[in-house]
Amino acid sequence: MLRQYPFTKEQTLELLKKYPTPFHLYDEKQIRENAKRLKQAFSWMPGFKNYFAVKALPNPFIMKVLKAEGMGADCSSLAELMLAEKTGIIGENIMFSSNNTPSEDFVAARKLGAIINLDDISHIEFLETACGMPEIISFRYNPGKLKEGNVIIGAPEEAKYGLTREQIFEAYKIARDKGVKRFGLHTMVASNELGEEYHIGTARMLFELVVEIHQKTGIRIEMIDLGGGYGIPYHPGDKEIDLELVSRQIKRDYDQLIVGNGLAPLEIVMENGRMITGPFGWLVSKVRHIKNIYRRYAGLDASMANLMRPALYGSYHHISVLGKEKLPSNFKYDVTGPLCENNDKFAVERMLPELEIGDVLVIHSTGAHGHAMGFNYNGQLRSAELLLRENGEITEIRRAETIADYFATLDFNELEGFKA
Ligand SMILES: *Cc1c(COP(=O)(O)O)cnc(C)c1O
Repeated sequence: MLRQYPFTKEQTLELLKKYPTPFHLYDEKQIRENAKRLKQAFSWMPGFKNYFAVKALPNPFIMKVLKAEGMGADCSSLAELMLAEKTGIIGENIMFSSNNTPSEDFVAARKLGAIINLDDISHIEFLETACGMPEIISFRYNPGKLKEGNVIIGAPEEAKYGLTREQIFEAYKIARDKGVKRFGLHTMVASNELGEEYHIGTARMLFELVVEIHQKTGIRIEMIDLGGGYGIPYHPGDKEIDLELVSRQIKRDYDQLIVGNGLAPLEIVMENGRMITGPFGWLVSKVRHIKNIYRRYAGLDASMANLMRPALYGSYHHISVLGKEKLPSNFKYDVTGPLCENNDKFAVERMLPELEIGDVLVIHSTGAHGHAMGFNYNGQLRSAELLLRENGEITEIRRAETIADYFATLDFNELEGFKA
């Protein structure tokens, strides 16, 4: 089931008087309720925390809301670390899970007291050279052929992330010899995965590895990080993940493997991004042109610069036409943006009610990996982001880009004197 877009057509038209399309709208009430639901479902886990994957929706207003609901921040770049700091998320409330990391980023993460999660065995020395060894280190495990991947992230043995099984034991020993006192273990093997068994299996895999690391090295892991990757419904027929089921089964394995081997307590944390904000965001856009050639096209005032997932992964995003919800969907459209790229489409051969110029379209589930992936190809500008507060007010949490923003990195005075 998709989450309810919070406005009627009339309310939306009222909103458009102040905020022209396109924009992403996020619903604070639904975000908070969902955050509480997650926390409740996993409340038995020692030290449970979700470190919100900042890349999913890198907006400090949203991060502040999530912080108030007890979340930390999962960062992977300097800019994301700065957003966490600006939001007041510091210390071990930051998980720094990066890859191919520049040394400046490690220095910044260390300065903030973040938990640093290393992506490669060679990064131990790289980190030590950059800023010295911290007290706590985590490693990202890539299980290779031992675990199946999924479409977005690919098969683990083809993924660039993490340490191999052999390397992981060596890595903890090296870190211990360099004075590290506390240890975490991380993995992230799936993206947008709706299958409960998959997530249960990931936790079990890490529990078994925690036991094996202890047996082989004597090192006691204090925290495992199950990564993100919890899926959300994009199709109206998709089911949400049954969090209670996942939690129950993980507890069964925890009791058997961790408690049973005398390795409790083991903290369990996650880095979900998509499931935290994805269902609670909508891209609101207007039909600018209708075009009938070999196919029927509806050209919107938004483009893949506002939402790239359909073009990038062929992802489905549901589309509603405000005021036409009750009409039959008996016209087939490609719903497009204006880029000179034929994959600049929100939907291909989608059945919709007959569209007219000026119709307001709501594209669902854009609250994660939506605005964040925006880019400026073809001179397209990124849209505004609006937050519907719990009291019903609207706060513009990011303004739309202007042409001046687009040209800000060019010096036209320099151009005057430049002889070609
Ligand atoms: C992208 C990412 C996440 C979040 O993934 P979601 O699919 O948004 O839950 C978490 N951790 C790491 C390391 C990531 O790269």
